[in-house]
Amino acid sequence: MKLVFATNNLNKIKEVQALVPPHIKLLSLKDIGCFEDIPETQDTIEDNAKQKANYIKTTYNYDCFADDTGLEVESLNGAPGVLSARYAGEHRSDNDNMDKLLLNLKNRNNRNAQFKTVISLNLNNGNYIFTGICKGEITPTKQGEKGFGYDPIFKPKGYNDTFAQMDLTLKNRISHRGKAISQLIAFLNSAHI
Ligand code: IMP
Repeated sequence: MKLVFATNNLNKIKEVQALVPPHIKLLSLKDIGCFEDIPETQDTIEDNAKQKANYIKTTYNYDCFADDTGLEVESLNGAPGVLSARYAGEHRSDNDNMDKLLLNLKNRNNRNAQFKTVISLNLNNGNYIFTGICKGEITPTKQGEKGFGYDPIFKPKGYNDTFAQMDLTLKNRISHRGKAISQLIAFLNSAHI
């Protein structure tokens, strides 16, 4: 069967393809001829993931899963959350986003934060939600060169390094996205589809 992963990141597709049952063939957005920006206009991470998966189902009639991720900071009432990618503006600069967050947390004692990834799967007329959370804290300064997004200022609980200082294999094992994907894969492996 064919299942769309609503992404054009071929590395992500390859990684997940290796873990799903062999009769499931993952297709990228490009594979189905989807070149437009998929709307992400909802107020929560959950609803954005659902909106993306539903868009593929209604526009292209494919079973599909889509993910959405945000960084939630406790003392900022969950901000930047659903706005994580464009926290400092529509130009979506990782560096500006981090600078804005560090400024907003200046002199705050509570620097607890969590990354949350939600995967919404539309399969055989059902909708299934998988959530992965990685708890940690925002460091006072940027540390490390690896990764992307807020990685240089996010230190996962129980580790001394930021995500940007870690090997990708370790990050994938403990990360929000890794956890959500593991749940999706367990479901696909157990479901009789
Ligand atoms: P997306 O939903 O995967 O596009 O993620 C939204 C935004 O959250 C990204 O633009 C990044 O700023 C941030 N983000 C998502 N995942 C990560 C991560 O693993 N590390 C750091 N930042 C992330």
